[in-house]
Amino acid sequence: MADDKQILLDRVKREIIDKNICPDLAAQGNINAEIVFIGEAPGKNEDEQGLPFVGAAGKFLNEMLAQAGMQRSDVYITNIVKYRPPNNRDPEPDEKKAFWPYLLKQLQIIKPKVVITLGRHSMEYFLPGMRISAIHGQPKRIAFGKEKLVIIPLFHPAAALYNGSLRQTLIDDFMNVPTIIEKIKTEK
Ligand code: URA
Repeated sequence: MADDKQILLDRVKREIIDKNICPDLAAQGNINAEIVFIGEAPGKNEDEQGLPFVGAAGKFLNEMLAQAGMQRSDVYITNIVKYRPPNNRDPEPDEKKAFWPYLLKQLQIIKPKVVITLGRHSMEYFLPGMRISAIHGQPKRIAFGKEKLVIIPLFHPAAALYNGSLRQTLIDDFMNVPTIIEKIKTEK
């Protein structure tokens, strides 16, 4: 079962490389995870190491995961855009659009119960028209093919890192994630 998932995920990765969309899928974690985190795009450190969230934002993410009683090995982490936009600029709409089908394929294979979007760039495709400032930390149930998927939109750790009040909001939202997940499990 896990082997099948790995084969399918490798196939998605191969397709991206064959189409020359990016050099690496830049995803990391547990392919059987119930929770998938989706960031924006690799930064400098991520680009160098070919792994998501390994710089300052990643350190902050690790701290919050640990405080919430989770480890990176419990979850799957990826980005909507799989390569680094030059000079750390925001990903362009057409770049997000180009990678969206591949993100969907990843989710169809992993089949998480919960997707945690980090920042508005990964949120906007799942929850179009919504504003992160209004709905951060609130679970939203969406249809995902024949399944239901819960999206928890959180602020991006890089945006919150050096902004005192945003930082505390993100930490508070994050610490509430295990409670949300427990509730989802008992509802089913
Ligand atoms: N910011 C992101 O959105 N993704 C990363 O992988 C690193 C920083």
